[in-house]
Order: sequence, then C-alpha cells, then structure tokens
Amino acid sequence: MRASWLYRSVGDAGAPAVIGLLRPGHRAIVTPLTAICAKRWSHDYSDTVMLPSTEFPDRTAAIKVQEQFLSVISDQVYNWQKENLPENSLFILHDGPPYANADVHVGHAVNRIIKDMIIRYQVMQGRRVSYIPGWDCHGLPIELKVLESLEHGKKALQLTPVEIRKLARQHAENTITKQMSSFKEWGTMGEWENPYKTMDSDYEIRQLEVFRSMVNAGVIYRRCRPVYWSCQSHTALAEAELEYAPQHRSTAAYVKFPLLIPDGLVRLVKEQSDVDVSGKPVHVLVWTTTPWTIPANKAIAVNPDMTYQVVYSDAHGVLVVAQSRAESVTDDLGPMRVLAGSIPGSALTSFGYTHPLHSNPVTQSILAADFVTSDAGTGLVHCAPGHGMEDYLVCQKYGIEPYSPVNEYGEYDATVPAGLEILIGKSVFKDGQSTVLNLLAEADALAGVNSGYQHKYPYDWRSKKPVIIRATAQWFADLGSIKDKAVTSLDNVDFLPESGKHRLQSFTRERSEWCISRQRAWGVPIPALYDSTTGDALLTDTSIEHIINEIKKVGIDTWFAEEDDITHWIAPEYREERKSYVKGKDTMDVWFDSGTSWTLIQEKYGSLREKGKNLVDVYIEGSDQHRGWFQSSLLTYTATHRNGKAPFSTVLTHGFTLDGKGRKMSKSLGNVIAPGAIAWEKYKIDKVMMQPIGVSGLRLWVAQNDYRTDISVSVESFKRVQDSLSKLRRTFKYILGNFKPTPYFTYERDVPYGELGPIDQHALYSLYELEKSVKAHYDNFAFNRVVQAVNKNVAELSSSYFQLIKSRLYTDHPSSLSRRTALTVLAHVFRTYTSVLSPIIPLLTQEAWHHAPCCVTGQSEGVFSPFVSGWYETPEEWNNEKLRDDFLQLSNIRDAVNDGLEIARKSGNIGTSLDAGVVLSTEPGTTAFALLESYKAHLAEYFVTSEVNVFTASADSETTTAYRWSSVPKKLTILGSMMKTTVVSPSRHKCPRCWHWNAKKESEVCGECLETVKSMHGFNAP
Ligand SMILES: [Zn+2]
Repeated sequence: MRASWLYRSVGDAGAPAVIGLLRPGHRAIVTPLTAICAKRWSHDYSDTVMLPSTEFPDRTAAIKVQEQFLSVISDQVYNWQKENLPENSLFILHDGPPYANADVHVGHAVNRIIKDMIIRYQVMQGRRVSYIPGWDCHGLPIELKVLESLEHGKKALQLTPVEIRKLARQHAENTITKQMSSFKEWGTMGEWENPYKTMDSDYEIRQLEVFRSMVNAGVIYRRCRPVYWSCQSHTALAEAELEYAPQHRSTAAYVKFPLLIPDGLVRLVKEQSDVDVSGKPVHVLVWTTTPWTIPANKAIAVNPDMTYQVVYSDAHGVLVVAQSRAESVTDDLGPMRVLAGSIPGSALTSFGYTHPLHSNPVTQSILAADFVTSDAGTGLVHCAPGHGMEDYLVCQKYGIEPYSPVNEYGEYDATVPAGLEILIGKSVFKDGQSTVLNLLAEADALAGVNSGYQHKYPYDWRSKKPVIIRATAQWFADLGSIKDKAVTSLDNVDFLPESGKHRLQSFTRERSEWCISRQRAWGVPIPALYDSTTGDALLTDTSIEHIINEIKKVGIDTWFAEEDDITHWIAPEYREERKSYVKGKDTMDVWFDSGTSWTLIQEKYGSLREKGKNLVDVYIEGSDQHRGWFQSSLLTYTATHRNGKAPFSTVLTHGFTLDGKGRKMSKSLGNVIAPGAIAWEKYKIDKVMMQPIGVSGLRLWVAQNDYRTDISVSVESFKRVQDSLSKLRRTFKYILGNFKPTPYFTYERDVPYGELGPIDQHALYSLYELEKSVKAHYDNFAFNRVVQAVNKNVAELSSSYFQLIKSRLYTDHPSSLSRRTALTVLAHVFRTYTSVLSPIIPLLTQEAWHHAPCCVTGQSEGVFSPFVSGWYETPEEWNNEKLRDDFLQLSNIRDAVNDGLEIARKSGNIGTSLDAGVVLSTEPGTTAFALLESYKAHLAEYFVTSEVNVFTASADSETTTAYRWSSVPKKLTILGSMMKTTVVSPSRHKCPRCWHWNAKKESEVCGECLETVKSMHGFNAP
C-alpha cells in the first residue's frame, strides 16, 4: 500500500519534470528525484522523504473545474475593489459599445480580454476601477435584421415605425443577453448588473441634451447638399459607413458640351491655323465616370492655371481640351490636330456653354476650380452640384444650387429637366444610365464610352453595394468651428500605437461637416418640427427642451407614432393658431449615439475627476475607430466643452483577428472560430482538430499576441499557449506541493533575506528582475512582453533552481534552515507569479490562491484573492547586482560542467548528475579563482553534483588522475582566466536515501541523512 501511495503521489505531484534548456545546446541532465526515488524508497526511508503533495489539480483537462472561480474573479473581485479601494484613485476604462446585432467572434474576445487585463492590472496596483460595459443598439442593421425575420407574408412596408422600433428593441435586448453571457464566460469583470445601452431612455435623454447644446452652440444646421446615399437602405451615410472597393467598374464617357463660341476664340484659331470656326459647332470635352449625372450638369470647371487648346478631330469635330491631356485624349478618341494653343484656363471662364440634352437650354458657366488637375480626364470637369462634393463646393461659391433629380431608390424622379421625362423611374446604375448615354449619342454629344473603367469607389458597408452621391435636405454638424479645438486637444492624449494620434488628427481635419441625420425608424429622433406650409424647421433651445421633457413624459416611441394632435410636442411659445407643424422623421447617425457615451461617465464620475485630468483614462477599440467612435466621441465632447480637453487621456487600438493564412475571418470563408469553442470545446484551425484550452488559455492567447497589429489564429499560436499554460500549472503545483505540513514541521514564517544562501538570493534576484520588468510592460500595455518575461523566468527557474532544491526539500530535515530557505524562495515565487499573472489569467491564479495556505500567500485567511492582496512588490534588497554578475559567470561554468556530465552519462559512467563530482581549476590569485573560492560551498548544489573541488591549475593534473574515472577537461575563459572543468567519479559512496555520494561506506546512509532520520524517528532509525 505504502509503495503504491508513493507511486501515485509521484504521478500526482507532477513536479516540473520537464528538464528545461539552460542555454541552447546545454541540456541539464538533472533527473527529477521524484521520478526515480519511488522504487528505491518503497520501505526504508519513504516516510522520512517529503515528496510534494497537493490537491491542486494536475491538468487543464479539468477545465470546467475552473468555472467555480469565475464568479470570484469577476463579480466578487469587481465589487470588492469598488467598495474597498480608494475613491480618489479611480481609473476609468470607458467601453466602446459593441453593436448589439451579432454572435460573438474571436475579435470580441480580443477586445474584451485586453480591456479586462488593463483594469485588472490597475486593481492589482490598488486603484479603484470603473468599467461599465455598453451596447450600441440603434441603426439600420438591426432594423434590417428585424425586417428580414418577419413572419412569412408580413411585409416591412406594413409595419409602422413604432412596430419596427418594438421589434428592433427586442432584437437588441436578445443579442445583448447572449453577448453578455459570453463576455462573462471569458472571466471579464465589470458592472454587468448595470451596463449602458444606447437605447436606454436615460442614455437617449443625455444624447438629446448633447444635441441641444450643439444647437445652442450654433453648429447644427439643415441644408440641401450632396451626401453619400445608399439606394438599398434609402438613407444618407456618413463617411464612417463607407468601404472603398478598389476594383469597381464604372462606365466612363467623354461628353461634348456645345460652346457658345466668342469672337476672340474665332480670331485666335484663325490667326494660329487659318481655320474659320465661326458659326461652326465647337464643344468643350469632359470626361466622367458617372454619366448618369450628366442630366444634372450645372457647370463645367477648369483650372485657371492650366493651358488649354482648340483641337480638330475628324470624328468629333472641334473640341476644347487641356494641353496636358491632349495626348491621353488622342489615345482614347483618335488623332487630333491643334487649331489653337496656349489658351489660359482663366480665359475660358468667361465662356458659356449649353446642355446638349436640355430641351430649353440656358447658358451655363465655366468656373475656375483648383481641384481640376492634369492627372485624368480632359482638364475640363463636368459639375453636378447635386451629385458631387467638390462640384457642390465650387458651385456654392458661384451661387449655383445643388440639383438632384434622383429619388431615394436611386431612380430619376419627376424633377428631371424638361425633355428628359423618359428617364423618370429608371435606375441610375442600370437603364437610367444607358438611356442617358443613348440620348447623348443621339444628340451627337457622346465622343467615347468605356464600360469597364476600373477605379476605387465607395460602397455602403452594410449592403456592400455601391453608393451614389445625392443632394437631400439633411442635418449637419458644422465641424469647421469644432475640429481645430478637437485636433489641438489631442496634443495631451497618449496614443498606442503612436501613429494613432496622427490618424485621428488627420481624419478629423479632413472633415468639414458631419451629416447626422438618417432616414430610419430605429434611432434617436432629431427633435425638429417642420412648418406644414413652408417646410421650415423649428429647432431652438426652447423647442428641444420642450420635446425632451415630453419624451420623458410620454416615451420616445410616441414621437414616431401617428398622432392626430401633435400640439403637445410644440413648446407653448410656438403654438400659434395659424401655424401647424409636423414631426420630423429623421433619426440621428448611430455614431452620434455612441459618440455621446462619455455623458454617462460625466454624469457618474465627473465630480470625482481630479482637476486637470481628462474625463476617461482609457479608450481602446479596433483600429478602424479613428474614423468612428474615437472621432465621434472627440467631436461631440469638444463641441460641448470649453476646457480644451479631449474626453480621454489614452487611446489604444488593437488589430483584427485573421486566420492562419492571414485572411479576415468571415462566415463566407468558413474560417470563423467561436471563442467559446476555443475555451470549452474542440475546434478546427486549418483543418487541424484542436483541444479546448479553457478560459485561461483563451486569455493567455490574447495576451501573448502583439495586439497593435492584426492577430492571427494559428495552430502554432494555440499550441504555444497550451505549452506555457501547462508549465505554469505545473509550477504552481510544484510550489504548493512542497508546503504540505509534515508531522515534524509546518512552514509558518519566511526566512529573512540575509539568512538565505547565494543560490536562493540569486533566485530572488530573478524575481526582482521579473517583477520590475513586468510592471513596466503593464504600464505600457504590452501584455505580450509580460507573457514573454514570465515564460522566460519559468523556464529558468524550473530548469535550474527548482531542480537543485529538490534535495533540500525532499531529504533535508523538515525544519532545517536549508529546507526553510528553499520554501521561502518558493513562497516568494508563488506571490510574484500570482501577482504578475493575475491580470492575464486570473482563473488560474485564483485557483492556485485557493489551494495555497496563508504561509504561501503571505496573507491572512480573509484575503480571498490575489487582487485583494495586490501587487507583490519585490524589495530593493533583492536587487543584488554583484550576485547577478557572479551567477552570470557561474552559469557559464555550469554549462561547461553540463557538457562533461552529458559525456559521462553517454559513456555509462553516471545515471544522474548526482553520480558525479566536478573538479574546477584555474590560476591562483585571479578574479576567477577568487570567484570559485567564494562560492565553493555552493557549487555542488548549483551543479546538482555530489561534490565540487577547486584546485589551482598546477595541482589539478595530479589530483584528477586519482579518480576512478574522469572526463576530458573542458576549457573556458572566465573573467579573463583560463578555467578547466573536469567531471570525475565521486570520492565517497552513494547514500541510498538522498542519492548524494556522501556516504562513508557502501549501502550506508550519509551522515546528514542519518542525523535527519534520527531526529525524525528518534533513535529507532534503520
Ligand atoms: Zn544522504
């Protein structure tokens, strides 16, 4: 029974049996004592040998076991810190709300776990944290999802806005419930009981208040102007809702507009080429990639600083083109002869032209514009101010109104110019465009068409269809007055990566206005009333205040309801008998929704923030949010504050998750992996079946990646995680196992630093180094470097220190100083590891903590978690640089010794390293000799050999021959001196208890063992 108990305990103990690499090429041939002792100690000495034993489970296979600690590390720790850590230390990580419309994917896990590591580190540092998870609930995708899922036969058009809103709200709620349960499963902590949702009524009210103060600041206006428009969703789109397709194919066309030719030009042509063009048709030639916008042409732009020429082509007649574009135009349209050149663009602006398709043509103008370049086209640009941003801006200067005869479905409407009624109802992308081209050809105004012109073109990011630009009456925020303030406020914001600052600044600078209205039912309304007769909008401080109060009273859905009498929405001072109003139907851009989420933090913590500090400590989201949430937060905050600050102190971004082949994860590629599967179930990566790695594995995987760039989900990266996780688990198990109380001794107190031997002190130095470097990495949010540093330390300790103390731990007297010093170091390792690892893998550290007696944690019983204990700051006393330098040399010597041991093992002279002795020799009087002398007493233990003798170089050759066998000496240079290491046979006999060759006689225990056994058993020792 005894033997089998021992055997099992050996298996369970799982002491770091892995013999780690000391250095590349140097294998420590230290065999764990536990692995070999069991057979030998089955009777005589087994009860005096203290093998590790602990309840701490062995393998991560029992992943589910960890579930019992989930609520401890999330709810319990979060609530504890909220109640116990000082209020004035508050650290706020403000959650960028994920969209409440999808299943969770690995990207969510990366985002959530990074956030969690950040706040957990802060708690370890003794700071109170606030993390209120949020959800972005409004907007088109949810509306569409709801409409798609309607029961068979029920049409979207049959639903009222109120009905749509009800379904959308339900959908968002359901998604939030599902997402939240996943987020919690990943061991992330926060205010789960009290998240924020952009559809909460208090949220909506705060958002409307932000809108109101922006109205009061005079930055909100309504204007008919071109906006990006989705013909699928029938709504305006913000730039952040666009994706650019690099290979989009458009139909490009050369179009001729009849020039009203002035006498001056006739004379010029006559002078330069003796051709008379008076009374003959002369055309200005334009090139466009959106021929469907030709009916809406209102002007032609030229660059006043470019030079133009009159050319003649047999096929197309007399044309005006830019000199710099003539060659390219000739390539497309055939040979051309120059009739007159050197005409400055500025001269053309006095000319007029007419529209070739209008039945009642009027004279239109040629305008000067800087955006005309010699890069493309003809150097003359067709301007449709209702269908182009630049066109709009240049026409606005000349008082030309935007004109857009296209409806929300992307079809021509009844406002088409006289003569073009045939276009009504036709799609601008399909038959509408082809009809325009046919009409142009009939009018002899089409000089050339290329139906496969490839270029970059904006798409609606939701419907994945090309957008159009269309002028409609929309609400805008004028960014002209805000953006300078916003950009300047970023000077005091830290960005990681640093390039984020420039990105956010330049994206913000690029924008002049923000189209904030959308034509949807599921959102926060723009609280405007419109005069039923004139259509004029009523949007004043008083009217908004009144509407906000009314929403508080009757609920926001009522705004969207059909009401017979809407008087209650009109502020009393605007109620006039002769006037009637209608409620606006526009909702706000969802970026405005999420962009005002800082109001929650302001309301909750505004008064707590120290003066001079920005509202929130950290914003962190995916790197696409420089155009999205970071920017809308910055703009709404700076628009409503005069403190010159940004809402955040630090902005971090993380990359996206890619599969092993570097492809984005998507359903269509079939490479999506659910984070839940990684943690709990089997899953496939690149066709390889993978084992679950638990929540700790998932978190460690997130941490080990450099999240600043894209993160790939690869077989190799998960194997690495499994490997480091099991090493960590074995380490905790090894440490805990050695603290099991014996009948002779219970560990109660750490041995003071000064009483430790140099090997123990050196182990503490490595912990000191680890703790300080890890702290710096955490401060820089570099979790991958934390993982690297810990892995390195684990490898070092488990391959050397943990091996060499086994003798002391297992066979020295339980209460001996040598054993207690080893335990002291192990306790410090435990405290340091649980401290540095808790932000990353809190489940594992909590589990280890749970199994650790107070003497190991160094804390009283009531300290239920490493988070309560706080950061384990290693004392300055441990920072012994002399020791570090000495051990650098000693480890080089050890490498040489290990080489000799390896040879001795291969030649059959030894089984384990304890079967050998070592002879070291060097010149007397050297620093190297002094080093050996001063560590002489510790070298056998350090090398895990039975003895070490130090000789001067001259004495050595005589002495080594005295051994039964010796290896060929290995030479190396230490501190400038030649040193020789020789592995030799030990001079004494092997002790059957401790395996050291310390016994005076064959088969007898050594003196130390005898004393130990006597003391443990009285004098009845065998
Ligand atoms: Zn012994």
